[in-house]
Amino acid sequence: MSGRKGRRLLLIPLPVQGHINPMLQLAEILHSKGFSITIIHATFNSPDPSNYPHFTFSFFQDGLSQTQPSDLLNFLVEFNVKSVDPFKDCVTKLLRTHEAEEEPVACLISDAICYFTQAVADNLQLPRIVLRTSSISSYVAFLAYPLFRQRGYIPTQACILEEEVEELAPLRVKDLPLIKTEEPEKYYELLSNLLKETKGSLGVIWNSFEGLESPALKKLSKEFSIPMFPIGPFHKYLSSSSSSSSLISQDQSCITWLDTHTPNSVVYVSFGSLAAITETEFVEIGWGLGNSKHPFLWVVRPGLIKGSEWLETLPSGFMENLEGRGLIVKWAPQQEVLAHSAVGAFWSHNGWNSTLESICEGVPMICMPLFTDQKVNARYVSHVWKVGLQLEKKVERGEVERIIRRLMDAKAQGKEIRDRAFKLKEEAKVCLLQGASSYSSLQALVTYILSFH
Ligand code: UDP
Repeated sequence: MSGRKGRRLLLIPLPVQGHINPMLQLAEILHSKGFSITIIHATFNSPDPSNYPHFTFSFFQDGLSQTQPSDLLNFLVEFNVKSVDPFKDCVTKLLRTHEAEEEPVACLISDAICYFTQAVADNLQLPRIVLRTSSISSYVAFLAYPLFRQRGYIPTQACILEEEVEELAPLRVKDLPLIKTEEPEKYYELLSNLLKETKGSLGVIWNSFEGLESPALKKLSKEFSIPMFPIGPFHKYLSSSSSSSSLISQDQSCITWLDTHTPNSVVYVSFGSLAAITETEFVEIGWGLGNSKHPFLWVVRPGLIKGSEWLETLPSGFMENLEGRGLIVKWAPQQEVLAHSAVGAFWSHNGWNSTLESICEGVPMICMPLFTDQKVNARYVSHVWKVGLQLEKKVERGEVERIIRRLMDAKAQGKEIRDRAFKLKEEAKVCLLQGASSYSSLQALVTYILSFH
């Protein structure tokens, strides 16, 4: 670790798992570069500070209801409205305290979706950089939202779903980062605030690397006059034991179970922390996995199945009939799972963290995106990086079985995809080496932050 720099950074994540993880990983990276760290967190979904004794935590009352955000759009809008005053009070106190401790605050690093932080930072004359936790390619698609509007893509007519959007090829209308909502104006407003306050910041940090997304990075650099820092993949700077920002306890028994399986034989299935599926989809996935005859490790988070507590809709005797070929857990140590030699495929919803974690381990993907940027990521996985197949049709057991067999096939298309995934994994490793793209970008970020007075 470098010596302390006598500068402190304030970091504010959006309080959902897929945003907390990369922000805390970024905090670890910047701490290793000599900065002191204060995490400013909403009381909602707060991570356990005892896992980070080297950081200071400061909590503010967000006024949100303490349930999981089932309506994401309203959750995001509400968070950006209700947090302004408590966040401002919190930062004002912190600036005073850290100044008195002779460790002045160099800047605020805010999740880009917490767009309300720009006005607060301006008011307190605090430099603000943002972390955008999505892929760069999906951000380019977000940037085109005036186009979605102009063409009337929300609500989306079924007849145009398969049409390619020429300006964003290879995305089709159905791959655009949209959500099903009765309130499209609210969604457009959220995107417009996100983009405006990202442009208003002093720079953007990406959990991605240049080799993976260079066309998108070039496009953005033309549109934005602020610097871009693609310094990812974040988790690869850290040892697996240091990533302990999980809000649900991770079931380690699945690693012992994976140990009993041969290389590349297991299908790992997880749809992240927010996605929800219907009971019918759940049962079809179960049958498809069972019928494929491949061993599977399936994360069924309580709350994943709409209207169910947990596994009660699975037909009785389903797991017993598999004779140990399947394991269901509530939450897994995902990075360890993906790094395990037994895992041969990842059936994912293509949240960006999951997608990047899979790329870093060379695990081919079955893509089943559900909303917003997941759809862009899935299209890039299947049609740009070509390290996975997308489940395009309705979730139905025959289709599930077929796609698993295609991807797990040690010959033909399955082999081509696996070979490409292996190459991409190597690229993800190389970019962190001294002098390579992410390494240099991180050096540039540190120098940039130190230039603030
Ligand atoms: N994750 C985990 N255990 C699980 C499932 C997911 O630790 O059983 C982690 C995963 O490694 C990733 C995050 O949760 O870092 C999910 O983020 P992602 O962007 O993939 O999806 P989101 O939850 O935001 O939809």
